[in-house]
Amino acid sequence: MLTSAQTLVYILAGMLFILSLRGLSTQETARRGNGMGAIGMALALIVTCVALSRDTASRTADMSQAYMLLAGAIGVGAIVGAFLAARVAMTSMPELVAVLHSFVGAAAVLVGIASYLEPGRDVTIVHGVEVFAGVFIGAVTFTGSIIAFFKLRGTLGGKPLLLPARHLINLVLVGASLYLAVVFVSATAPAGITSLLIMTAIAALLGVHLVMAIGGGDMPVVVSLLNSYSGWAAAASGFMLGNDLLIITGALVGSSGAILSYIMCKAMNRSIWNVVFGGFGATPTSAGKAKDAPAGKVNEATAEQVAQLLLAAKSVIIVPGYGMAVAQAQHPTKTLSDTLESRGIQVRYAIHPVAGRLPGHMNVLLAEANVSYDVVKEMEEINDEFDKTDVVLIIGANDIVNPSALTDVDSPIYGMPVLEAWKAARVVMLKRGMAAGYAGVDNAICYNDNTLMLFGDAKQSIQKLSTRVQAEEKAA
Ligand code: NDP
Repeated sequence: MLTSAQTLVYILAGMLFILSLRGLSTQETARRGNGMGAIGMALALIVTCVALSRDTASRTADMSQAYMLLAGAIGVGAIVGAFLAARVAMTSMPELVAVLHSFVGAAAVLVGIASYLEPGRDVTIVHGVEVFAGVFIGAVTFTGSIIAFFKLRGTLGGKPLLLPARHLINLVLVGASLYLAVVFVSATAPAGITSLLIMTAIAALLGVHLVMAIGGGDMPVVVSLLNSYSGWAAAASGFMLGNDLLIITGALVGSSGAILSYIMCKAMNRSIWNVVFGGFGATPTSAGKAKDAPAGKVNEATAEQVAQLLLAAKSVIIVPGYGMAVAQAQHPTKTLSDTLESRGIQVRYAIHPVAGRLPGHMNVLLAEANVSYDVVKEMEEINDEFDKTDVVLIIGANDIVNPSALTDVDSPIYGMPVLEAWKAARVVMLKRGMAAGYAGVDNAICYNDNTLMLFGDAKQSIQKLSTRVQAEEKAA
C-alpha cells in the first residue's frame, strides 16, 4: 500500500523524468536534463527501497533481513554498472545499450513468472493478462536485444536473414501466442504455467527472428525500437508489481523510443512496419548481396596537398562519421576548424542522423570538443549547401556519404537519404584504407575525380593537417 508521502515522491520523480526528457531534446539543455533524470531515479530508488523493506519486514518480522536483501541487490548492481560504465569505450556504447535492454526484458519475464507463481496470490483475469503481455514483450525484448548486441559487436554478420516465408513464420508465432494467452487466462493458477512457459519460448524465438531479419545498415532503428520495447516491458512489470512509478517510467521510455524509431525511420526513408515485422535493410533480390567494390583508381593525397586546398577554400564542410569516434579525432578536428575560421574560412559540420553507432553519436563527440552548436547542421539543413562548398572533409564516414543509397536499387542502403558530399568542388576522405562501412558496401565517392584520399588514422591525419595549415599560415 502506498503512503501519501510515497505517492508524493513518486509524482515528483515522474515529473523529473518528464523534465529530463524535455531537457535531453536539445544539446544545450541535455546535461541539465540528464541531471534531473538522475535525481528522479535516486528519489525513486530511495522511496521504493524504504517501502519494500517496510513491506518485507511486515511479512518476515525481521527488518535486518529485508535491508540485507536490498543492500545485496543494489550493491551487486552498482558494482557491475560502475565497472561496465567505466570500461566501455564510446564506440561500444550501442552494444552496452543493447545489453541493458536485454536486462529489462529478462527482468520482465522473471517478474511475470514469479508474480504468477506467488503463493497465496489471487490471479484475476486482469492480472493474468498483465503477466502474459509482460512476459511476451519481455521475452521478445530479451532475445531481440541479445541478437542486436552480437550484430552491433560484429560477432553476427550485418546481412539480414530473410527466410522464404518469414512473414508467415512471424504470423504463426504470434497466432500461437494468442492461442496460449486464451489457455493461460482460462486456467486457474498455477495450472497456466505450462502455457506461459511455452509462450515464453515462442516469444524468445520471435525476438531472434525479428532482429535477424534486419540488415546491418538499418540497425540504428532496431536499437531505438528495442529501447521502446524495453520501456513497455518495464511498464508491464509496473502493472504486475502494482508500482505506479514503474508504469510511468516504462511508458515514458516506451513512447519516447517509439517516437525516436519513427523519426529515424523517416530520416532513413524506411517504413516503421518493416522494422516492427522484420525483413528490413535489403530487398529479397539483394539479400546478402552487398555489392562488390565498384573498384577503380583512387587519387591519394598528402597532408601538405590537403592543407593547401583548405587554405585556398572559402567554405569547408566537415562530415564526421564512425571513424572519427574510433580515432577520437574530435579535439584535433576542433583545433583545425578554429585555425581555418581564424583565417576567415567558413567551417560547418554536417550531421547524418545515423552517423556513428548511436543516435546523436556525432553531436556528443562534437559537444565534448566544444564545437559551437551554431555550426553543427542537420542533414536537411546542409544538403543543399554542398554544391556551393569548396572543400568537404569526410572524417571516417562511409555509408552516410555513399551515393549508391540514391542510385543503386540493389544496394542494402538504397533509399536512405545521404549527405551529398560529392557535389562539392573537392572532397577529401580521411580513412585508414579502402574498407567498407557498417553496411558492407563499397563507396563510389572514393573513385570520383574530385575526391582525394588521405589515408591514415583520422586523429593522426587531422593533427598532420593542423600542423601543415599552421606552418603554411606562418610562412604566408
Ligand atoms: P561507417 O561504418 O559507414 O564507416 C566508417 C568508416 O570509418 C569505415 O569505412 C572505416 O574505414 C573508417 N574508419 C574506422 N576507423 C578509422 C580510424 N581510426 N581513422 C580513420 N577512419 C576510420 O560509418 P558512418 O558513420 O558513415 O555510418 C554509420 C553506419 O553505422 C550506418 O550504416 C548506420 O546505419 C550504422 N549504424 C548506426 C547506428 C546509429 O545509431 N548511428 C547504430 C548501428 C549501426 P577504414 O577501416 O578503411 O579506415
